[in-house]
This record gives sequence, C-alpha cells and structure tokens, in this order.
Amino acid sequence: MRLSQSVIATLKETPAEAQIASHRLMLRSGMVRQTSSGIYTWLPLGLKVLRKIAQIVREEQDRIGGQEVLMPTLQSADLWKQSGRYDAYGPEMLRIQDRHKRDLLYGPTNEEMITDLFGQVVKSYKELPQLFYQIQWKFRDEIRPRFGVMRGREFLMKDAYSFDASYGEARKTYQKMMLAYLRTFQRLGVRAIPMVADTGPIGGDLSHEFIILAPTGESGVFYDSLLEEKDWLQTAVDTTSSQDLHRFFDELTHHYAATDEKHDTQAWSLVPAERQREGRGIEVGHIFYFGQKYTQSMGVSVNGADGAPFFPEMGSYGIGISRLVGAIIEASHDENGIIWPDEVAPYKVVLLNLGNKDEASLALCEKIYAHLSELCLYDDRNERAGVKFADADLIGYPWQIVVGPKGAVKNTVELKRRSTGQKEEISVENLLARFS
Ligand code: ATP
Ligand code: MG
Ligand code: MG
Ligand code: MG
Repeated sequence: MRLSQSVIATLKETPAEAQIASHRLMLRSGMVRQTSSGIYTWLPLGLKVLRKIAQIVREEQDRIGGQEVLMPTLQSADLWKQSGRYDAYGPEMLRIQDRHKRDLLYGPTNEEMITDLFGQVVKSYKELPQLFYQIQWKFRDEIRPRFGVMRGREFLMKDAYSFDASYGEARKTYQKMMLAYLRTFQRLGVRAIPMVADTGPIGGDLSHEFIILAPTGESGVFYDSLLEEKDWLQTAVDTTSSQDLHRFFDELTHHYAATDEKHDTQAWSLVPAERQREGRGIEVGHIFYFGQKYTQSMGVSVNGADGAPFFPEMGSYGIGISRLVGAIIEASHDENGIIWPDEVAPYKVVLLNLGNKDEASLALCEKIYAHLSELCLYDDRNERAGVKFADADLIGYPWQIVVGPKGAVKNTVELKRRSTGQKEEISVENLLARFS
C-alpha cells in the first residue's frame, strides 16, 4: 500500500476519553473510530490486525478438528426461553422486536443456537464427538463500556462449542482446547496464562481464563513464574492419546495460577517465594465445561449404543478477538507508540523514503516495494523525515526500512527493528533475501 493514496486517520491530539495506552494508541494511529458508546468502525490498519488475529485463531481451531460455521448475530428469543436464559441473562442482552412483534435479540453468545443446530443434524452417538466454532460479532450492553475495543458493546469473538458422549471424552476435548489456546496466544506474540476460573453450579476443575499480564488489567492475578517459560509450539502432545493429554494437562495445572476471584492463600504459600508473581491482567479467552446444561434444558439427545437416548456433554470456548487488539498493544508499546508482534502487525515493514526528490532513492524504493508487495506499507508522502519516523513508530510496524540519497547510490538502506531500536546498514540484496 502506498501511503500517499490511502486514508490517513492518525490523530495529533490524544482524545480525552482514552484512559489507557492501548485506547489512546488505537485512536491516534487510526486503527478504529468510535461511532457510538462501545461501538467502533475498524479502519484499514486496524482491520488488518483484526483479520490476522482471527486467522491464527482459525488455524489453531482447525488443527484440533474444529468445524467453522457462521451463525447469525440476531437470534430468536424462543431458543433462550427454552434454556431459561432469556430472563436470567439480564440487561446485558440487547432485546429487539421485529414488525410482527416477535422477540429477537442480538446474540451475546451462542450456546442455545448451536445446541439447537446440533439437535437438527446429529442423531447418533456414532457421530460424536463434534466441535464447532465461529468468528462472529457479539453484542453485550455493558453497563460501562470502556478502554476502547477492550470492553466494547459490539465485539468480535471466536466461540467454539463441543459435544461429547461422556465426561471422560469431554475432558479430553477440554484438554485439547487448552493446548490449542496456548499455541494460539504464543503465535500471536503474547503470553496468556491459563488461570483457574469459577465453574459456577457445575463445579469441578474445568474452567480457565486466559490472562495477558498488563498493569491496566481488570483482574488481579497470582501465578507461578514457571508458567512464563513454557514453549507450547515446541511441546509435543499427541492429541489422539488420552494419556498424553492427561500428562500435559496435569503438568500444566499443577503450577499455581489464579485470578483474585479464585485465589487460595493456602496453595499460594506452597509456591516458592522467588517464583511467586502477582499483578494484574486482561481476560482474553475463557474455556468452560458445563456438561448437559443446555442439551438437557433444550431436550437435545442422541441415540446411544444401547438404543437409549442420552444428553451429550458440552463445553464452550471463547476468545475475544477484538479485545486482543487492545490487549496486545497494552502488553507491547512504548512512549512512541505500538510495537506489533510480527505475526499480527498490519504490515510487517514500512518503507520510508527520505529522498522524495531524489531519483536514485525513488527508484530504489520502487524496486523494494515491488518485491515486498503486501508485506509492506510504502510511505511515499511528501513529508519531512521527522513526520515519517514518528508515524512509523506510532503505528508500530516491526521493521522500518529507511531509504535516503546517501545509501541509494551505494545500494544500501538502513533497517530498524521497532522493538529494540537497533539499526543496521544493509545491502538491498540482503534486505530482499531477509524478507522473501
Ligand atoms: P469480562 O469478564 O471481561 O466481562 P466475560 O467473562 O464476560 O468477560 P466471556 O463470556 O467469557 O466474557 O466471553 C469470552 C471472551 O470474550 C472473553 O474472554 C473476552 O476476551 C471477550 N469479551 C467479553 N466481553 C467483551 C467485551 N465487552 N468487549 C470485548 N471483548 C469481550
Ligand atoms: Mg462480561
Ligand atoms: Mg470474565
Ligand atoms: Mg469469561
């Protein structure tokens, strides 16, 4: 993309309503604009990030056998009356009536709808297990929308739903999902630690919130620092083996990690003092086993091996895709702007031409730009170097390629790493080889 031909939505002034860094930086760098309280338009740069996050989430769901579906945002109230949640959900649910006075709602989550779909398409135990997911907008009429996209009213969520024949099978699915989440967040370039969460009336140990550490987070967190050191992409777990899954899950969950809601001072005291970490964090994902809650209340059963019908065991698994955009920035920025992890950056590199009137610089930029194409945003504006540098730091591209008249005659450029500020002079050949 050539910057001279794109909309430039960066702001010079920091909007007064933005209380935390990620919100300020998303507005200043032109990622989003608020249209009404807690509701945002995604501008080109922000949308690219949102899509990259969604794609990584999708790949990891597919990897464990998730089947992608797309359910509507508007749901009939009838399904929610069956499960009993229509009244229980409260004022966070946006209720709507159509012209025939039928009750609809903008979905805050989709357990009812997927259970209903499952009941229509799956009839026998032989068809279990099933795992569905979607990446779809949700609406929750939050009493206090704040922190930009982190607590919006309309927000993008990946929500997955599993159906299993027994508790043992549901537990395996939960463990697989745990691994998929750990891999997902690591690929996104952030550390999200799974912490024991409330299971409500269902009980048991099968609910975890995934928390990114950030001082502005809404949850207090306590965890064992060993959890920071794991490399989940290198951890071999055979997800077809119950034994392997159990081993992985036990190894993970025996390290202490809990939010303030579930903090257990007795267990905490057993963690060696030098490994105790206390702080604040942002909930970016939540996985939950809830058994037959919906299959039973909605009367959705399948035929068992003995011919008798039974209610499948379910779990649901959310990731806040739009919240992650803010949470990643909260965990990765400095006083000059955003520092995108490579995997989710709107563009991996920005090409800064400091020789707007210099033939050699212009020619070199065209050559580099032609090679890097969609990886690269080309700042070809007729602006001062200082403006280009400041915008590049603000928007936070992981790499900056600086082209100027002095280097252009020697066929060299300066390459700067945004995260460390480290600069090197490099030949164009080496540059192109590095990014190909
Ligand atoms: P919170 O505790 O922050 O209100 P939640 O526990 O109500 O979140 P879940 O029902 O667990 O949320 O939904 C799954 C995920 O959706 C959350 O982990 C979070 O990442 C995301 N999410 C929930 N509410 C919002 C919101 N208002 N804006 C953006 N993302 C949200
Ligand atoms: Mg909530
Ligand atoms: Mg929560
Ligand atoms: Mg939650």
